[in-house]
Amino acid sequence: MTVEEIRVRGTVQGVGFRPTVYRLAKACGLHGDVCNDGEGVVIRVSGTDASIEEFIRKLQQECPPLARINEIKRKRYEGEVSFDDFVISHSFSSVVKTEISPDAATCVQCKKEIFNPYSRFYRYPFTNCTHCGPRLSIIRAIPYDRCNTSMASFNLCSECTREYDDVENRRFHAQPVACHVCGPKATLERSDRKPITASMFSMLDDVDAVCTLLQRGEIVAIKGIGGIHLACDATNETAVQKLRQRKQRYHKPFALMVRDIEIIEKYCTISDKERELLESSAAPIVLLKQKALSSPLPIAPSVAPGQNTLGFMLPYTPLHHLILKRMNRPIVLTSGNLSDEPQCIDNEEARKKLGSIADYFLLHNREIVNRVDDSVVRVIGDKVQMIRRARGYAPAPINLPPGFNNFPHILAMGGELKNTFCLLRNGQAILSQHLGDLENAAAFAAYQDTLNLYLNLFEHKPEAIAIDKHPEYLSTKLAKELAVANLIQLYSIQHHHAHIAACMAENGIPLDSQPVLGIALDGLGYGEDNTLWGGEFLLADYRHFQRLAKFKPVPMIGGEKAIKQPWRNTYAQLTSAFSWEDVKNQYGELEIIKFLENKPLNILNQVVSKSINSPLTSSVGRLFDAVAAAIGICREECSYEGQAAIEMEALVDTNFLNNHEETLNYSFNIGILDNIYCIDSHPMWQALLNDLQQQISPSVIAAKFHKGLAQTIVEMVNIICKQNVIKNVILTGGVYQNSILLEQVRKRLQKLDLNVLTHSIIPCNDGGLALGQAVIAAAQYYL
Ligand SMILES: [Zn+2]
Ligand SMILES: [Zn+2]
Repeated sequence: MTVEEIRVRGTVQGVGFRPTVYRLAKACGLHGDVCNDGEGVVIRVSGTDASIEEFIRKLQQECPPLARINEIKRKRYEGEVSFDDFVISHSFSSVVKTEISPDAATCVQCKKEIFNPYSRFYRYPFTNCTHCGPRLSIIRAIPYDRCNTSMASFNLCSECTREYDDVENRRFHAQPVACHVCGPKATLERSDRKPITASMFSMLDDVDAVCTLLQRGEIVAIKGIGGIHLACDATNETAVQKLRQRKQRYHKPFALMVRDIEIIEKYCTISDKERELLESSAAPIVLLKQKALSSPLPIAPSVAPGQNTLGFMLPYTPLHHLILKRMNRPIVLTSGNLSDEPQCIDNEEARKKLGSIADYFLLHNREIVNRVDDSVVRVIGDKVQMIRRARGYAPAPINLPPGFNNFPHILAMGGELKNTFCLLRNGQAILSQHLGDLENAAAFAAYQDTLNLYLNLFEHKPEAIAIDKHPEYLSTKLAKELAVANLIQLYSIQHHHAHIAACMAENGIPLDSQPVLGIALDGLGYGEDNTLWGGEFLLADYRHFQRLAKFKPVPMIGGEKAIKQPWRNTYAQLTSAFSWEDVKNQYGELEIIKFLENKPLNILNQVVSKSINSPLTSSVGRLFDAVAAAIGICREECSYEGQAAIEMEALVDTNFLNNHEETLNYSFNIGILDNIYCIDSHPMWQALLNDLQQQISPSVIAAKFHKGLAQTIVEMVNIICKQNVIKNVILTGGVYQNSILLEQVRKRLQKLDLNVLTHSIIPCNDGGLALGQAVIAAAQYYL
């Protein structure tokens, strides 16, 4: 007989790990016990060596779906013990740190039950178990027990109690367990508050009625797990148009939900990786390439104007499964909010705010404590790219690279747009779910609430706070107040350094490694020289960086306005490359030049010459806007961030893209400006204007621009590599959401034998910024 103590670290608490241990130990004929403690799970087993080996093997193979084992440490147990059975013991110490799991999509077994007329969970919209259901969205405080969640007001019935207490049951200690008898209920109501009569529909129940309503072209607000959505039939153009008009969201693509993958296949191609993501317990929105030939029930054109992808997700709660059961086509499922506000989560708030948008409401009486938006991912090459990290992913911890183990608690506030914040502790980073654009007052209020909640849930007492250098970011201002009030040290981190460090951390680069070459291309970030950066080549480690090259700065005429009105960037780029007189003489007949001539150019010129509200920026995001506007995409206005670049990417001529004739691509000049390398787009613009004159199609021009830009970036890297020892190149910043640019740059760099590192589990956009801020502050802490 051997007695062993086995310690398991990872995501092993609150995910049905101990019952699995119990079941496997019994099956292997072992005696002993299992319990949670502050570091994970401790198992003591006595039995033959062979049966212990078998047990360990099975534990790894049959790990429950939401659990993740990071480490198993085994040692011979020296204490005096005699076990005569296997038991689940109470926790050793009082400092059990129960991890807070992300919300998880309905598991296969629960799905079976809701469609089984003989199950007590038949058609129950809130069915869940240890392997699935709400988590982050319902928790108020720790420990993660029912009384600390929004399930507290629902008393378990005797059947649910029996399952909850039965260690052999899938619902053993599943905190949100509920059924028709004891749990939350969903109810349908009309937005005009008139009563609903059953005779209006042929329906099984309120949830089923929603399907009929959607099929009739109605707009229904549906309360889900982390927020309230607006839904309509995605194949009904009138319904989709109605939703756009009422919501005043005119262009930004809508996400779609469908009953099963077979329906998605009618519209989009799906790779194995994409299928895996769709079916994962995170169940994110996956951006998929549209098929050229559409199905007999085509998607309404207004669902995703100007796009060649569609964002699909599968049902992730029983409620969604039940609504879609009879629906053989996709529905739009977009967040229920007013313009830039956060998604509604409260019934009363939704009735007030969405009453003029939705015709009906399907609400329920389980409170959503934490707003968690749907996550968005895509696959580029064979790699996952996270675009919005929220439901299903947050707040799962991200393990930090070697060297980050023994640091004090650090809080990183994130940026301004697509904000997330980050808590650093014990070699792990907890990145919050996507919290949106903080310039919106409601979003900023929600940011502060979520921040307080996380600090409590994770018992995090920051000893240092990391912020962005931009003095006007609301997150920065808030941190300054916090720092003064609590005497906490502040670390002000340059935006693109943070992007690069985030990518280093996610790729496991150890703390004291040689510097990497980071190529950060994005919208805007506050630079060291008080200009706005966004096209940067930085030699960086976690502590320092040196700016080696940049894109030539041009004015953002009108400041913020230049983000909303792409033509302003075209004018700035052209007047930076040429004299306007020359442009008029040579290209005066071009539509874009005529368009610009109709703008108040004298005023714009004065604004620039007097440096009024026209900060200089090296942003590649703005360069994309400029090129897009020149070829007629979003020339006058963008209605959402990055729209011009996204629509230009969709337009790119793929034949030209795959053509190997590199000399056809637009070229840029590489020179020196302010003692560093500078990429100048002058020759690119010359060639582009000539192409417009030759009436070359916008698709080909877009392709030449993408390839030429990639080629130039790699030329720049080549020059830098001659003067520096570079092994790792980091590609980061929101511009890399453009899959064509990312692939074109990556392919070319790999030919140079460089190790190209990109983002996968956190966004390359500002949604990943906080992780970078946190690791830089940690690295600088002991300087
Ligand atoms: Zn389940
Ligand atoms: Zn019950």
